[in-house]
Order: sequence, then structure tokens, then C-alpha cells
Amino acid sequence: MNTIFKPHDEWEPYIDIDQHGKLTLSNIEFTTTNLCNMRCSHCAVGYTLLTKELPAIPADEIIRKLDEVETLRTMSFTGGEPLLTKKGIKDNLLPLLKYAKSRGIKTQINSNLTLPMSHYELVAPYLDVMHISHNWCDEKEFVETGFAMMEKTPSVEYRGNLYRNIFDNARELSKGGMFVSAETMLNRNTVPFMEKIHHEVANEMLCKRHEIHPMYASDFAESLETIGLDEYRKVINEILDYRNKDIWVLFGTMPFYPCSRDERDLALIKRINNASNTTMRNDVDGRSRMNLNIFSGDISVTDFSDDGQAFGNIKNESLTQIYKRWLDSNISKSINCHCPAVKCLGANVIVKNMYYPETEFVSGSIK
Ligand code: SF4
Repeated sequence: MNTIFKPHDEWEPYIDIDQHGKLTLSNIEFTTTNLCNMRCSHCAVGYTLLTKELPAIPADEIIRKLDEVETLRTMSFTGGEPLLTKKGIKDNLLPLLKYAKSRGIKTQINSNLTLPMSHYELVAPYLDVMHISHNWCDEKEFVETGFAMMEKTPSVEYRGNLYRNIFDNARELSKGGMFVSAETMLNRNTVPFMEKIHHEVANEMLCKRHEIHPMYASDFAESLETIGLDEYRKVINEILDYRNKDIWVLFGTMPFYPCSRDERDLALIKRINNASNTTMRNDVDGRSRMNLNIFSGDISVTDFSDDGQAFGNIKNESLTQIYKRWLDSNISKSINCHCPAVKCLGANVIVKNMYYPETEFVSGSIK
């Protein structure tokens, strides 16, 4: 008899429903730098990047705020490139990583993985997931688009070396036992190269997980073309055909739901559910996660802050107060549907606006 192995996803927001019976603040994403050595055309925070770091709120003040969140399970660190400077790693990142470790909270760093190995060694003892983006069809594309939004670009040779660093670092960190997870966004550029990209993630970088997400048309990525639902369904089916079954494939923010009336959507969901080493993650933003900017103290809900407006600030309120206010807001209520029978928490706001602007999702539609 075949057994279906499903890896445990610590970032799955439905764990909170199982544990607490309701949406719960269990995940904080920290913006720990505004610096980056690249300027990718698909960068979700491109226009917020700076060339000089601002002073951060002292780590012990942030930790006092985190102490109040008893339900915290996961912490993610993003930027910019959180591992760019050793000073930033020591001052801003390590105190929070060590704090997480002391509470048994799982951690993830989003890095472009182009830096010297000594940067990664500083955080390795405290880290659960090294998360990287792999959206490059080849070195030429990396060299051209990885710095597309930079005013003065480094030499082609230097940029090529950074590309090769990604592969070398991923392989070395994986061999050393680190859980390296590569994410690829589906868009007009990546879809034709998905099989090659998956092969590189699994067999050359030796990653433990390949995450597949839709591309959001936001910030720098505004100019990249999204794909339609038919093409989305087709490429997911193809990935399931050729995937390396030894690595975990995680489909995040999938734009297909159990309440769909399209048989092809239901067949795809069933296929993923019945496949070993594959999972689908409910969207975390606004469900279990808020973002904390360690420079300003601003709290935002990533997918809802396109206008740059913060939802609150930790200098004036506790994290749990801000989260409660968020859940009570009209925008949160407008997208938070829930079907316990299939453990579905509904569409995220960008996916809903992109693919289902006229659809009304009704909680409990699946019995
Ligand atoms: S939770 Fe929302 S999206 Fe998911 S099956 Fe129910 S109504 Fe559909």
C-alpha cells in the first residue's frame, strides 16, 4: 500500500485554528534592513530600498513587545538583504534569532544567497529555514534583470560571480544540514523555464524544498506579466508530472479553492492532496502574520500596504492590540472566509483582485 507523506509546514496558518480555534497572531515578519546588493526587476519591496541604513529600535525593546505575544510560533526576517552586512547581522538579526531559539520559535531568513559564506555561518546555529528566490532562467537573465533597477550597475563579471555564488552557497549550506528552501514565482518569464528551474533547485542547489507562488503585480514587479488561471493550472500539473519526488514541493497562495465550480480546479487540488511530499499553504498575510519594521516600529499587513500606510506602531500599542484591530477592520473581514471541512482560509486580497474580482466567497460553503 502506498503511503502519502506530507511534511509538516510550521508556517501554515491553519495550525492556529487547530490550536486556538481562531485566527491568531503566530507569525511576525521583520524588516531588518533597507539595504540590498541587488535591485531585481521582480522585487516586492524595490522602491523602499535605501543606500544607507537607518538607526534601528534597540533589540531589547522589540523583544519586550514580542514577550507579550504568547502565541508566537514563527518569525521571518526580510529586507532588503538581511545578511548583507556583518554589523546588521550582529546588531539587528542575531539578538532576535537567539530570542526565538530560546522560546522554541521557528525562524526563516529571506536571502538572495549571493554573499560570502562567512555571513551565513553567523546565523546558521539559530536558523530553521534559509529561504531564497530562484526566478532566473539563466545567468544572462540574472546579470541583466537582477540589477535592472540599479542606477550604477557593477561589472558583468562581478554580477556573474554572484549568480554562481547562489548555486555554490545553496549546495554547501544544504550539505552542511541547513534547510534551504527556494521559491519561484510563476509569471510570463519563469513559466517557460520551470522544469529547468526545478531541476536546478532539486539537483544542483540540493534544496530541501521548492516553493511555488504566484507573482504579485506590486512595486518593481509591476512591469512583469502575470499568468491567467488556465495557464496556472497547466503549469502546476506539469510540475507535478516532472518534479523530483525527493524534495518537498510547497504550493503557496494557490488561486484555486475547494468551493470552485470548475472541475479542473477540484481535480488539481485532489491531485496535490494525493501526492507525497507536496503541500498547499493557506496564505499567511493577515491571517497569522503581520510585518514589523525594526527601524520605524511600523506594523503592516504585507499584502494590504501597497499605499505605504502602516496599520499601527509598536511604540504606541501592543502587537496583539494591533492584530485585533486588524481582524476587526472591514478589509480583513472582506477576505477572511473559512471552510473548516477542507481547512481552507480563502483567497488573499491580491489574488482575489487579480483573479476573482467579482466572486463572493462564502464561509462554510464546503460542508
Ligand atoms: S474558505 Fe473561502 S475560498 Fe476556501 S473553500 Fe471556503 S469559501 Fe471557498
